Amino acid sequence: MKGKPIRGRLLAAAHHPADLPKLRPVVALVGRSNVGKSSLLNRLLGVAAARTSKKPGRTRGIYFYETGEGHYLADLPGIGFAQVPSEERQGWMALTDAFFTRGGVGLVLRLVDPRAPDAEADSTARDYLADLGIASITVATKWDRLKASQRRAARLLLEARHGEVVPVSAKSGEGIEILRRLIRRRIAKDGSDG
Ligand code: GDP
Repeated sequence: MKGKPIRGRLLAAAHHPADLPKLRPVVALVGRSNVGKSSLLNRLLGVAAARTSKKPGRTRGIYFYETGEGHYLADLPGIGFAQVPSEERQGWMALTDAFFTRGGVGLVLRLVDPRAPDAEADSTARDYLADLGIASITVATKWDRLKASQRRAARLLLEARHGEVVPVSAKSGEGIEILRRLIRRRIAKDGSDG
């Protein structure tokens, strides 16, 4: 029996391409470790769901969560593109490649820490996604840490580098509703054929 969707429920964890669930549309969160990804995921889900994917020593995988809003959130650890130790990289690349190329990913949120940007990794991710025709937006995390006087300059810099940027704070909640709305709009635009 197919139950009512429970927001924040972990639906699947994929460690190999064969494990990837046929859920769609999926909104994927990517970003380096410590960028604030788990905190944002929890905020978006409204529950502390991502804790399950934060266990130390876990193998790298892609975790899929129910949002109850007609789309799913996928948590990709690490940047997924550059930061994986070499012995793990091949398996990880095979998994992320399969995830992004087989369809179903409606939008990617590329998380950046405005105080610790990594332009090279960020542009690698953006180019990779653009080549696949997957829409992505930059989400600037931990926005509460910037003083009011720093925000304008920080935003302009990020926009010059990344295009569209949504500043958010998982701590204060600032920007979260804007991001939610943006996700819904993008997914709706995208979902007509899928
Ligand atoms: P992850 O490794 O990308 O999943 O990052 P986490 O969500 O675990 O966050 C890394 C650190 O940044 C933790 O110490 C969080 O408390 C902190 N952090 C995350 N989001 C925010 C935020 O919006 N504001 C502030 N001030 N700290 C944050």
